Amino acid sequence: MANNYDAIVIGGGHNGLISGAYLARQGARTVVLEARDKTGGAADTSSPWPEHPDFKVTTYSYVMSLMPSNILRDLNLERHGYKVWPMGPYYQAWPDGTSMKLYPDDAKKNYEEISKFSKKDAETMPKWDAWLAGVADVLGPLLTSVPPKVGSRKPADLIEQLRLAWRMRGLDVRGTGDVVRLFTMSVTDLLDDWFESMQVKACLTINGVPVPMLFVSGQQINGQLPFNVDGNATMSLHTPGGISDNFNFQIQAAAPSIFRSGSAGPETGLATITRADNNQRVTPSNPIHSNDTIVIWATGLGRTSPPIDAGLPAPSDPLASAVIVPTVNLGGTALNVTYAGLVPGSVGLYQINATVPGKAPEGMAIPLVVNQGGSSTTLSVRVVK
Ligand SMILES: Cc1cc2nc3c(=O)[nH]c(=O)nc-3n(C[C@H](O)[C@H](O)[C@H](O)COP(=O)(O)OP(=O)(O)OC[C@H]3O[C@@H](n4cnc5c(N)ncnc54)[C@H](O)[C@@H]3O)c2cc1C
Repeated sequence: MANNYDAIVIGGGHNGLISGAYLARQGARTVVLEARDKTGGAADTSSPWPEHPDFKVTTYSYVMSLMPSNILRDLNLERHGYKVWPMGPYYQAWPDGTSMKLYPDDAKKNYEEISKFSKKDAETMPKWDAWLAGVADVLGPLLTSVPPKVGSRKPADLIEQLRLAWRMRGLDVRGTGDVVRLFTMSVTDLLDDWFESMQVKACLTINGVPVPMLFVSGQQINGQLPFNVDGNATMSLHTPGGISDNFNFQIQAAAPSIFRSGSAGPETGLATITRADNNQRVTPSNPIHSNDTIVIWATGLGRTSPPIDAGLPAPSDPLASAVIVPTVNLGGTALNVTYAGLVPGSVGLYQINATVPGKAPEGMAIPLVVNQGGSSTTLSVRVVK
């Protein structure tokens, strides 16, 4: 039957694609299901500069560091276009005109480069490289092993745990602790233990998870939180001048907030709601009318379908609609929401289009409530017939 499969792989990132290919090679009728409009996951190819679509980069995974050669051979990837370009030195520049280059194979040059910022860090770097190489030597062969069921008392699982322990024998007590630390601590904390200069740490955290920045001034930084983060989060800001304190906060799946700006008469910080009729901001002198279509400009509406990568402009076809559909209520009357989602061509800006019924409650200060998954925001608007 058409929809019967021996194996269903959820997610077409490179691990899902490779698993799917191996399963299919073994004769399993396999399907790989991918939520986005393209496969590849974090190792996909994107063209982030609309004016130069021919410049293609991988979204996150830019160094081909961990691809086992047996997979390349088994799946004939070179025949399918796999080609690795040698990477040049890491290069990082700062606004004060300083810069640093780190070479993969020239310890002397690295020493000179790092000494510009910290002699102590220049001396530490070879020890750091040796430490990482030592951990990698032991862990490398484990990449293609199925991890043992740690804690299980079943004889077969115990044998697997012993095998792992045997392979880990290359690590002394300090080394085993190091591996645990490498896997469990943040890269920032790890680098803090080893290095003192911000520049060296910034160069080494090049593989960290950055928040796409949209605007930076002396007083303000606008960035976009990735769509796929939920729960407790910690943010810190890294600049050539130092690292900020940690800022701890909670990320909810949706937390709608209507933009406010501009003024009308004595009123300032006006809500950015426009009337489709005249495309003008709703103010006391341009009130909402019965049967109007209004557009509410907001942030915080959360994930969309299709999902969009943080920092990239939203598409117009298909529109990226909010997964949790908001409700809009005007003075106790529910409005008909005709669209809620990202504004095409903008980054992280949402719009909610809603129609006002013929019999809307009238008044100078009618509460307008936007609710999304239990989180709501309220403001007052003038409504007339
Ligand atoms: C900033 C950054 C830099 C990195 N740099 C490197 C590097 O230089 N070199 C390197 O080797 N590695 C690097 N990595 C790591 C590498 O990108 C990941 O290890 C790798 O992409 C993981 O592949 P994956 O297939 O397991 O998952 P992902 O690439 O995350 O793919 C998962 C896929 O599953 C899809 N999906 C998720 N949920 C569902 C669902 N419910 N239904 C359908 N589809 C779903 C997603 O859309 C996605 O396409 C980096 C990672 C990051 C974040």
